[in-house]
This record gives sequence, structure tokens and C-alpha cells, in this order.
Amino acid sequence: MKQSIYGLTIDQLTEWLLEQGQKKYRAEQIWDWLYRKRVTNFSDMKNINKECLQLLEEHFTIQTLKQSVKQESADGTIKFLFEMQDGNLIETVLMSFPYGLSVCVTTQVGCNIGCSFCASGLLRKNRDLNSGEIVEQIMKVQQHLDEKGNDERVSHIVVMGIGEPFDNYHNLMSFLRVVNHPKGLAIGARHITVSTSGLAHKIRDFADENLQVNLALSLHAPNDELRTQIMKINKAFPIEKLMAALDYYLERNNRRVTIEYILLKDVNDHVEEAKQLAKLLQDKRHLTYVNLIPYNPVNEHIQYERSEHKDIMAFYDTLKKNGIQCGVRHEQGADIDAACGQLRSKQIKKNQARAI
Ligand code: SAH
Ligand code: SF4
Repeated sequence: MKQSIYGLTIDQLTEWLLEQGQKKYRAEQIWDWLYRKRVTNFSDMKNINKECLQLLEEHFTIQTLKQSVKQESADGTIKFLFEMQDGNLIETVLMSFPYGLSVCVTTQVGCNIGCSFCASGLLRKNRDLNSGEIVEQIMKVQQHLDEKGNDERVSHIVVMGIGEPFDNYHNLMSFLRVVNHPKGLAIGARHITVSTSGLAHKIRDFADENLQVNLALSLHAPNDELRTQIMKINKAFPIEKLMAALDYYLERNNRRVTIEYILLKDVNDHVEEAKQLAKLLQDKRHLTYVNLIPYNPVNEHIQYERSEHKDIMAFYDTLKKNGIQCGVRHEQGADIDAACGQLRSKQIKKNQARAI
């Protein structure tokens, strides 16, 4: 199978061109066609000579994702389901906010972390996405916007789709370098957020990258007993290790870290847990922001329900009273299975039903 050209950083493309006896400046020209003019065929690259085009055609491909389903929500959220070359399905979501258009990308087919509340974790990881497949999700969404002709641009990226991005670290980093590069999509690092379930050693690696990309940590519980119950990864990376990794990150980066906290009714949504969380974050309260996420019910996880509004507000108030910066995440696309992995798991079930 040919490699996706979106998977190459500009330095890698330059190096490849030189190896092929081509001119160095071609890399910038090719990137201009890919990311500015956004062509989907090499033959449309008008100022590239025939020999170079042939080489590109021989070694690379531009399109590897096939749109399989597109669902539009009443609030403007669009969910795309893509089929990859090997038949695997992945999801990408476009969300519209007052500050811009944000895309949520998938990094793995399934997820091995297996959190008890998550639709993605229901299916074990089948494989990692390569960096080209992650970049192409953004390109596909941008091309959808281009077709509408309103001159709209993807301005923000959240790496919060299916998968654990830090379990696919190398491809994640290449992806970030391509979309962030001024000659690529030029999406500012400060407009990109990577969410992790808390692989502590990777948080440290990420801190050392010295990028301006935002980090979000899925904490979801303020003590080990509760967190292990909700997320079994906590056994490998308990809260103390996570907090130490977070301190390491905060020492090296002047970016505020988002702490994600899903509110599960009667599980982790009591005032007592809010107090514990406030205590846990006390010494970094100026450098963290707690995002309270109302649970998006997943059919397969009937043991959980969304917290009641009064409990969400009590949790929020307790954090505020204790000097913790926080907010309640506004829901996007609730009518179109917007929680991570939901559309994909539904589609897989449909396909399986068809196959039977
Ligand atoms: N694997 C990474 C990134 C993908 S999940 C992580 O876990 O951080 C992105 C976010 O969606 C996480 O905070 C995750 O906990 C949350 N999430 C997963 N399932 C959810 C659901 N059913 N309702 C609300 N949020 C959910
Ligand atoms: Fe994987 Fe994140 Fe879902 Fe946990 S919440 S199973 S880490 S995708």
C-alpha cells in the first residue's frame, strides 16, 4: 500500500525529494498544493514537472479515507465516519464554537485503555493510525468546508476522538508538526489540545517537546480507589504519579493544563469528591482549569447515568469556593452520538448485523 503524503513533515519530504534527485524547493511547492490549494490529485499540481509528479504518484497517495457516513446535528456539529484503506472505521467531528471551528480527531482504531464509561474502549485496539491518516481527517473536514464556499477554516483541533494519543506518540507528534507548520495548515499550537488518560511517562516526554500545544488530563476521580474503579489504567499510573508528571510538565511549560472530569451520577459527583479534587489541585490551582463533563450515556454502559443538574452545580460551586478555576462543558451534537466512539460502535454493530 502506498504511503499517505500527509504523513510526511516538510523536512521529511525535502529529504525524500533530494534522495530522488529532485530540487529542494519542490517541497514547499508541493505543500502549497496540498495544504493551501488542497488538491486531491498529484496531476493537479500545475508547476511540478512531469518526472517529479511521476515519482510522487509511484510512492505516495493523497486520499486514503473514504467518507462512509455524515451526520449533521441541529447545533451545527457534523460527525464524519471514514473508512480507511484496510476497511477499518474511524470518526471525526467538526464543532462550531463562537471562537472558531474545531475538529476532534481519532488516533487509534479502538482503545486498549478500556475506561469503563467510554464507547471507544469497548473494542480493543485494532491498530494505530499513521500520521497521514490523522492529518487527512483534518483535510477531509477542511475540504468539506471549502466545498460550501463560505471561506471557513478549521481553526482548532482537539485530539479527543477514538484512541489514546500518547499510546501512538510518534505518529501524534508528526501529525502535530504537519498541521502546526506555517507552510502546512498553520493551525496555531495554542489552538490544539491533546487529551490523555494519563500515561505519566508520556506526559513527561510531551513536556520536553517544548511545544505550545495544550494538554488535557482525563482525571475523572480525586482518589485512587474511585479512579481505579472507573479507569483501570489508574493501577499503572496512580494519582500520585500523575500529579508528579503534571508538576514536571508545569515546570517546563507555561500553558495551563485542563483537568477533565466526567460527572457520573452517584459515582464521582458528590460534594465530598469536589472537595477532594480541590485539595488535590490546591497547589496548582492557578495553572489548571477543571472541565466538568456531563456524562454522555453509552448504551453498553448502563451502570452509569448522567449527574443531575443540581449535583453538577453543587460540584462546580464547591470547586469555585475552593479557588479552583472550572467550567461545565457545553454539550455538542448530543443528538448525533457525539461522545467519542459512539457512532463507530453503532455502525460496526449495524455492519455485523448485516453480515449475520
Ligand atoms: N483517550 C484520551 C482522549 C480521547 S477521550 C482520553 O481519555 O483523554 C476524550 C475525552 O472524552 C476524555 O476525557 C474521555 O474521558 C471523554 N469521554 C469518553 N467517553 C465519554 C462519555 N460517554 N461521555 C462524556 N465524555 C466521555
Ligand atoms: Fe480510551 Fe480515552 Fe476512551 Fe479511556 S476515555 S477508553 S483512554 S478513548
